[in-house]
Amino acid sequence: MSSPDFSYETRPVRVVFRAGAARTAPPDEAARLGLRRLLVVCGSRGESTARAVAEALGDSCAGVHTGARMHVPAETADLAVEAARVADADGIVAVGGGSAIGLGKAIALRTGLPLLAVPSTYSGSEMTPVWGLTEHGVKRTGRDPVVQPRSVVYDPELTLSLPVPLTVTSGINALAHAVEALYAPDTSPLVSLMAEDGVRALAEALPALVAEPADLGARGRALYGAWLCGACLGSTTMGLHHKVCHVLGGSYGLPHAETHTVVLPYVLAFNAPAAPRAVTALRRALGAPDVPRALWELAGRLGAPRSLAELGLKEDDVRVAADQVAGQPYANPRPVTADEVRAVLRAAYEGRPPETAEV
Ligand code: NAD
Repeated sequence: MSSPDFSYETRPVRVVFRAGAARTAPPDEAARLGLRRLLVVCGSRGESTARAVAEALGDSCAGVHTGARMHVPAETADLAVEAARVADADGIVAVGGGSAIGLGKAIALRTGLPLLAVPSTYSGSEMTPVWGLTEHGVKRTGRDPVVQPRSVVYDPELTLSLPVPLTVTSGINALAHAVEALYAPDTSPLVSLMAEDGVRALAEALPALVAEPADLGARGRALYGAWLCGACLGSTTMGLHHKVCHVLGGSYGLPHAETHTVVLPYVLAFNAPAAPRAVTALRRALGAPDVPRALWELAGRLGAPRSLAELGLKEDDVRVAADQVAGQPYANPRPVTADEVRAVLRAAYEGRPPETAEV
């Protein structure tokens, strides 16, 4: 038996998880932080929810800004920073998916204002100190504790409106955080426990939600899983899977959650031989011996896309994308050559059943 050997940093974030919390918790959370003039930010589709949060904040709401867009274009961030300045805001509340929370983070990064998050998808951004900004078509990301939301309000009722296809792909996007956290160089015992239970919760909840999207219990279980997976994402360094998805999203415009859904089984099949502990945890969580195959079958059963071709990647892009991935440094449990990335991408492009690598 070997002695544990790890580092784990706890960041100060308060989490409130309750059905109906979006309409009741934000004023208390603002008061705890001593905030009196909060700017609520959201995307255009999330406006009605954001207005409900703004109403709950009452006199503490300094305005609603609806300018969030996918991947936080720099000009979107400029407008939001200006809106915060004009409103004389002393804090930001981001309401919505990763795009709205990303915009809140961009304001926090530029202004130092504290951020609260009310997530409505399973993307997990609310649990991380990672920001992203897109300028001239290139997405830059970085880590800064100032963008980590101080308080996160999880309300499963907000996710009732998530369409089933987005429920499925956003849920598998969350699973991918847990999978890569399990074999990350900076994984730790607490992260492993969170990752395993996050995978278990999502793998149970997603089929229930495909059968009955209005099942609030299953919505709660899925969001609970997404919280755990997001916490794993915030505490570790992601590997090959996230690098591949970043390149496919950034350079080829492939949709975020769907790309994660397609790529995950193939990267896991490649990494599995170098990550036996992760595989053991995933076998327990999924109740299946062949975990890449189980994830691929789960996606199929849930009606999710299973090939990059379906998402619009061109066959000729496979080689170029693989070279882009191979040309950048990233943490991964198994060293990977350009040819190997190409083979992973080729299999994902075709969508054939993943075959766990022999090494
Ligand atoms: P998103 O926020 O763009 O939302 C996807 C779509 O779903 C949007 O049209 C949105 O309006 C809609 N939507 C959101 N919640 C809804 C709801 N409850 N009901 C109905 N429709 C709803 O997508 P996402 O997958 O949540 O986030 C993806 C973005 O977040 C990407 O830009 C990604 O890079 C980023 N991200 C960042 C981190 C981080 O740590 N910084 C982590 C994960 C994702």
